[in-house]
Parts: sequence; C-alpha cells; structure tokens
Amino acid sequence: MTGALMLLGALALGAPGQITVTGPAGEAKVPVRKDPGGAPVIAAAPLLAALGGTVRLHEGWADVTVARQPFRFLVGAPLYLFSSQLQTLATPVWMVRDTLYLPFQFVSEIIPYFLGERYRYDARSARLEDITGKPAPAKAPKSVVRLPNGLRAGHVVTIDPGHGGVDPGNPGTYFPRGVREKDVTLQVGLLLRDELRERGVGVRMTRTTDTLIALGDRGAFCTAACDLFVSLHVNSLARRRGYTEVRGFETYFLAEARTEEAARVAKMENEAVRFETGASDGPMTGGLDFILKDLQLNEHLRESARAAELIQKQLGTVHTGDNRGVKQAGFMVLTTARRPAILVEMGYSTNPQDGRYLTSRVTQRRMAAAIADAIVEYLKDYERKTGGAEAGAGR
Ligand SMILES: [Zn+2]
Repeated sequence: MTGALMLLGALALGAPGQITVTGPAGEAKVPVRKDPGGAPVIAAAPLLAALGGTVRLHEGWADVTVARQPFRFLVGAPLYLFSSQLQTLATPVWMVRDTLYLPFQFVSEIIPYFLGERYRYDARSARLEDITGKPAPAKAPKSVVRLPNGLRAGHVVTIDPGHGGVDPGNPGTYFPRGVREKDVTLQVGLLLRDELRERGVGVRMTRTTDTLIALGDRGAFCTAACDLFVSLHVNSLARRRGYTEVRGFETYFLAEARTEEAARVAKMENEAVRFETGASDGPMTGGLDFILKDLQLNEHLRESARAAELIQKQLGTVHTGDNRGVKQAGFMVLTTARRPAILVEMGYSTNPQDGRYLTSRVTQRRMAAAIADAIVEYLKDYERKTGGAEAGAGR
C-alpha cells in the first residue's frame, strides 16, 4: 500500500458528514469534519471510544490503539507507524486546542486494511463495523523503527523561543518597527518545529504564543523523554563606538562563562528573570553555584557541546553573518534542563544586515532548516554512540 494509492482512494471516495461505528459498546455516530486544508478528519477521542480503543498524547506523538493494535501518529505530520513500518497519510494529523483529529483515511482505509479480519468499512452506508464482536489477539511489535532518513523513530526535541509576553527581549534596533527579539525567536521556533517534524522528530515547544515562561520553568519542558533542549535568541550590543558593525551567530552550551563576552551574553539573557514576578526564585538565587553543584548537568556537557558544534557548522552554510563559534556560558535557562541543552544567538539586532536576515521569512526558514539538519545529525551521532538502544522517547 503506497501513499499515492491511499491518496487516490481518499479522493475518489469522498467523505460523509458522519459515520456510524459498531463496536463492543454498541452503535455510535461520530461526526466527520474538515481540517484547515479542507481534508476530511475525524476526532480521535469519540472514534476510539466507539471502537473500544484508546488514544494517548505523548511528546508530539499520538498513540492510538484499536483492537489492541498500536498505531503511532506524528502530530502535525502526514506520518504514522504501524508494525514497525513508517507509513504516509494523505493529510497531516491535525491538533487544535486539546482535540486530536485523524485523517478520515484512518477509518476508510487504514483500519479496514490492517484490521480487515475484524473491521469492515462500507462507504455507501458510512458504517465502520466490528464483524467479529470478539477481541483480537495482542501482537506488539518491538523492533527498532527507523525513519526514511535513517533516524530512529521516537526522538523528542524541546524548542524554547526566548523571552515572550512582558519580556520583549532586546528591542530590535535594526528590526522592522515594533519587532522585538521575542517575535523573531517565536517565528524561527515555529519554523524549526515544522522542519523537525518533517524530519520525523517529535517537538515540544516551551511556548507557541506571545507569553512569558519563567526561566526556571523552561528547562522543565525537557526531562527524561527529551533528547535535546534548544533555546533560540537574538544578540545585541550596548551603544558604543562601532557597535553596529558586529554581526553573526554563535551557539552556547552550559558551563561557567569562559570569557568576558560569554559572561556578558549570559548576564543579558539571565536578566529576563526580572520580568518574572514571584515565580521560580528557588534555583535562581543560587546562581552559578547552583549550576556547578548540579552534577546531572555535567553528564550532558559533552553532548551539549557536540550539538552546539553541529548547529554552528550548519548555520555557517546559510548565515550571511560571521561564524562567531561555539561558546560556553552559564545560562539559567539551560541549567534547569535535565538533558543536553544549547542556546543559539542567531544574530545581532544591532547590525543592519543581521537585522534584515533575522526578520526575512526566507532566511528565517533557511536558518530553521539548517538547525533541524544539525539536530538530526546530532541525534544520529548519539544513536551511534549508544547503539541506538537508549535514544528516543520513553527513556
Ligand atoms: Zn535573548
């Protein structure tokens, strides 16, 4: 069964306004809706309730079980896993607020195809029928699943668009009027999310809107089942002779700041704490002492440094500014992440060329793709080092 075949099928059949599902719980009507692209979709929760199955969201994946058979859908992407095989969908899995929608194809083709001995879908009567009434035997495939790009399925990366809400970040001297650091980090963050999902990597965002997340809370988005924490920022310099001439990108990983310049950048980003009222003053008060005592972080230093190196290298292939290298600094946002963590300063808003580069949609997309490529390379490296056994979610 190919994606093209399934797509043809979906188009030829069309979709009803609702379907009738017969399962262990009797008969139920489930509405069929349209996603933003006009494709027919069905809400997962009522469908699975009618089928006596389950749906569970986990780090960007939706685990759906029908007749004890597991289907894993990548939210936002036209991909799912079944029996250790990556399959394509005619349209992406769509999530709006708390509701997960599966392509209608799941009902009309996927369930009848894979679970044909149990379910039959009749397009004319729009009925999905359980033809046995008996539970199917359990069969749980357990082998390592690889994506077409060679990456093991199940990776999760946390993207942290810096600042937000009442914390604008730096004022964006050479950005278009009204655009601040927080806007650019969010724009690139959302593009990076899409690029990673296209590469089969699950993504968790610390924010998807203009809101303030306390620095101390950002790292909590990347704990056990997260492979890498990526914080996005825009650099700026204080007004002094020649300050508008400095441009370029640099990537930081956590350590005590090595140079005066690294300490300055760390201080600037750490200052976002002052926008937080009452929140998270626990770990903050300890400052660097707290960081250095946290041995768990040091385990990840080498991995963080490797990720920083790869991102810096890939950005160098698309960025028009100077490659300012990999640096170490004590960012609070990184200290609370319990996994490898890096921070990218994507350019200087105090430089006219960088200002344009950072705010153009075309170059934003280029940066996002370059960072995504670097992350995939990092994850593959990590898989090789750990023999693939450790990588991915559920660790
Ligand atoms: Zn920043």
